[in-house]
Amino acid sequence: MLNSVTMRRSRLGSIAAVSVCALVVGLTTGAGASPAQQARDPLSPRTKFVMKPDGSSGATKPGAAIPNIDSAKATIRTYYGASSDGIADKKKSPYISEIASILNGQNAYLAQNAKAGKPAIVLDVDDTTLWNYDMEDGAMHFDYDPTLQNTWVQEQKFPAVPGMAEFVDKAAKMGYTVFGLTGRNNDQEPATLANLTKVGYGTTFTADTLFTKWTGKPGSTQPSYITCATTSCTTVEYKAGTRAYLQSAAGGGYNIVLNVGDQWSDLKGGSAARVLKLPNPTYYLPSPDLATLPQPTFVPRNVFTMAADGSSGETQPGEGIANFDSVKATIRAYYNAPDGIADKHSSRYITEMQALRDKWAPRLKERCANQVSYGHRPAVVFDADDTTLWTYDMEDDAMAFNFDPVLQDVWVQGQKFPAVPGMKRVVKAAKNAGCKVIGLTGRSADQRKATLKNLHKYYGDAFRSKYFFAKWADGEQPSYVTCEVTDECTRVEFKSQTRAYAEKKFKVKIIANFGDQFSDLIGGHGKPVKLPNPTYYLP
Ligand SMILES: [Mg+2]
Repeated sequence: MLNSVTMRRSRLGSIAAVSVCALVVGLTTGAGASPAQQARDPLSPRTKFVMKPDGSSGATKPGAAIPNIDSAKATIRTYYGASSDGIADKKKSPYISEIASILNGQNAYLAQNAKAGKPAIVLDVDDTTLWNYDMEDGAMHFDYDPTLQNTWVQEQKFPAVPGMAEFVDKAAKMGYTVFGLTGRNNDQEPATLANLTKVGYGTTFTADTLFTKWTGKPGSTQPSYITCATTSCTTVEYKAGTRAYLQSAAGGGYNIVLNVGDQWSDLKGGSAARVLKLPNPTYYLPSPDLATLPQPTFVPRNVFTMAADGSSGETQPGEGIANFDSVKATIRAYYNAPDGIADKHSSRYITEMQALRDKWAPRLKERCANQVSYGHRPAVVFDADDTTLWTYDMEDDAMAFNFDPVLQDVWVQGQKFPAVPGMKRVVKAAKNAGCKVIGLTGRSADQRKATLKNLHKYYGDAFRSKYFFAKWADGEQPSYVTCEVTDECTRVEFKSQTRAYAEKKFKVKIIANFGDQFSDLIGGHGKPVKLPNPTYYLP
């Protein structure tokens, strides 16, 4: 039987119903998105997003309204003070400050209720008592791997969540019995207990007070006090059922004053006087509510402010940072790619690209022909990746949204990219109406030939070598490009100056410039046409 942790990446598809609950503590609810967000510079990325946690927004939103996954990652790293190596700052970060403030906020409440019957607190383990950040980012690159997770568990590699050992110690001294309740399984219990002891929890957690999940193997079977609707228990059934047991006479008759967790599924299902949600934008483990009794449902925030460069991680509370798993699920819904392979026939993305095609193919046909009739020499510029050649399957399925230049070169040299939906007709319309078709890509000089061959499969002879610009090889920067920092040209410098050069060299006027990155479009020379692409961000 798979436990909830090993299953989590495959469970994002399930959609939970939501309603409002007033009991949530430690959560800042989002303000409504202002209509003013619509009025923005067309050449800068959007900063307001509405996104449901289960990914379903991807089926209804335009691509520009879907949080970009590179920006989401950068925002998360800022929040944890983590650099590109994926290792969180252990001393100082917005996350550490927020956790401290959330925990401090519980002191008075815990003091008031310390004499209530047999007072107890219940804590989840991962990202509640033990801190997973370095595993999720540094080791797994936000691509969950249950084998690697088990290695981290058995090797007891997790530090404590900042401030949590002190918080737990204080509660114990006030008279609380402290319970741990985790989706980690019985096979991981000894190592989890040793890890907890090692990082400051002393002997608070023991085999009697830490509840781990059964494996289904002999000696590790479902306890009689847990009942589930089907043979595979949900997280809420397991966790709420265990809390209910602790509150029953058979389980010790405890009064659970506080239940602490980083996932909504840790907190749903009742059997606690108060719940405390800790921030965790790094993953999302959904679980349906209990079917048997009506319980208030907690609502994850769905409105986010996020600057493209990740800087919002300094200013937004953890609940206000777009959750990485939810962003990924939203993107997959947009491309209809439940397993990382985009649907080539039907998706919200394809619908959006068809609308772009239906707008721009006739428009270019008319404008190119019109310019030619006046004796002018019009041209249209097209970027390659995700403008004419579609990289989705490489980015998601092959790279798990972690760009790998070696693997990218294998895809390029193998000419493995399909055409971007709708773009064949757009390119053809420009070419047939007399516009010069200019290709302009950040791919490297040694990828030029293979890129042209890949384009030829779908666009015939529209892209010609003479009119196709790739990034130069080291030391071969053309004289027509000058950059503010020598040898470190930005994409905007390279692309805008190449467009200027092409206009001069070919004596053409660029009337439109198609690209999926804002950096393809900034810097003039052609009316910018932005294609949607939430799968990466190239500043
Ligand atoms: Mg957790």
